[in-house]
Amino acid sequence: MTRSLPQFSTLASFDHQPRTRLVFGVDALDRVGELAREMEARRVLLVSDSGIVKAGHVERARGILSGAGLEVFLFDEVKENPTTTCVEACLKMAQTEKIDTLVALGGGSSLDTAKGCNFLYTNGGQMKDYWGVGKATRPMRPLIAIPTTAGTGSECQSAALIADPTTHQKMACLDVKAAARIAILDPSLTLSQPRMVTACTGIDAIAHVVETAVTRKRTGMSLMCSHEAFKLTLPNLPRIFENPSDLEARGRMLLGAAFAGMAIENSMLGAAHSAANPLTAHYGIVHGQAVGMMLPHVVRFNGTEPDALQAYGQLASAPEITHLSHGLPEALDALVEHLDHLLALAGMPRSLADCGVKESMIPKMAEEAAQQWTASFNPRPVSVEDFRKLYEAAY
Ligand SMILES: [Zn+2]
Repeated sequence: MTRSLPQFSTLASFDHQPRTRLVFGVDALDRVGELAREMEARRVLLVSDSGIVKAGHVERARGILSGAGLEVFLFDEVKENPTTTCVEACLKMAQTEKIDTLVALGGGSSLDTAKGCNFLYTNGGQMKDYWGVGKATRPMRPLIAIPTTAGTGSECQSAALIADPTTHQKMACLDVKAAARIAILDPSLTLSQPRMVTACTGIDAIAHVVETAVTRKRTGMSLMCSHEAFKLTLPNLPRIFENPSDLEARGRMLLGAAFAGMAIENSMLGAAHSAANPLTAHYGIVHGQAVGMMLPHVVRFNGTEPDALQAYGQLASAPEITHLSHGLPEALDALVEHLDHLLALAGMPRSLADCGVKESMIPKMAEEAAQQWTASFNPRPVSVEDFRKLYEAAY
C-alpha cells in the first residue's frame, strides 16, 4: 500500500506559516502609527524614494507616525533595482539613528532596500553573505511594508532582491525573519502611480500569477493564492487603464498583487523571470516589461509538458477566460491570447529588438538565464539552448 501523494499538484506536501499580518482598506495608512506602537516602536526608519516624496505619501506617513509619538528618520534615496550601495546608505542611517523599527513605503525597490538594510543592521556582514535561503542567524527588527504599486508582492515575501552594483546581478536573499510583520494595503496610495508604472507593475503581478500557478513547487496553498490573484488582477488591470481613478479596480489589483506575492513565497517563480533578469541587467529594461515580453513564449514552451498544460488550463478557468471542457490546448491558446491582448493594452514593447537588444548578446544572456535560481522551479526543464530559443522567439 502506497502512502505517497502525487508530486507537483494540489496535494504536494507543504508547510505554510503566515508571517505577515495583512491590513487592507482605503486609508489603511492612517493606522501605521498605532500598528507601529503595537510592536513597541520608538525610533522608526521610513524607507522610500523621491517619487513617493513628491506624491505626498511620505509626508503623510511621517505625520501619522510622529502623531503617534514616534521619532521618525527618513531615508528617501531608494533607487530602482536597488544595489548593495543603496542598502549600505540606508544601513548607515539606521545605525546612526539607532532605529528599532522599519517602515518601507513605496514600490518593490523600497521594500527590498528596507529588508536588505534589516539583514545587515541585525546580522552584520554584507548582502552576499545572505544570498540564498535562511542564512541570517539573529532575529531582525520589525518591518511594516506599505506598497504604493500593485506589482511585486514583496510585502508578502521573505526575500530581499539586491543587485551587485558592478554586475547588476540580483542576489535573492531569502529568510523568513526578513518578512514584514505587517503589510498595509491601502488602494488610495496606488492612485498616484504614473500610467507606465501601473502597466509595468501590473504586468509583473500577472506574470507572478502565471508562473506560480505551474512551478514544480506549487502546492494547494500557493494555487489558491495564484487562482484568486488571477481573478482579481486580470479583469481589473484593463479597468484601471480605462479609468486610473477607479479605486475599486485599484483595490482588487493591490489585493491580487499581494496574493500573487503569497503564491511566490510558497511556490517560487519560473523561466520568464529567469529570462527577464539578464535583460534588466544588460539593457536596463524595466522588470515588468522584460517579464511581459518573455511570458507568452515561456507559456508556449511549458505547455508541451502535460502537467503544466493542465495547470495552465485550470488557471485560465479561474477568471473564466476559458472552460476546461473546451479542451486543454484550447485553454492554453486562450491564455496566451489573453496575455498578448493585455500586453498590447499596457503598451508594452513586444520584441527584444524593439528594446535595443543586440542579437549577438543572446548566447551570453541564455547562459546567464539558465543559472538563475528561478529556472530550477520551471515545470519543464529549461537548458541554455532552450533559453536561446526563447530569446530568439521574443526577438
Ligand atoms: Zn516579477
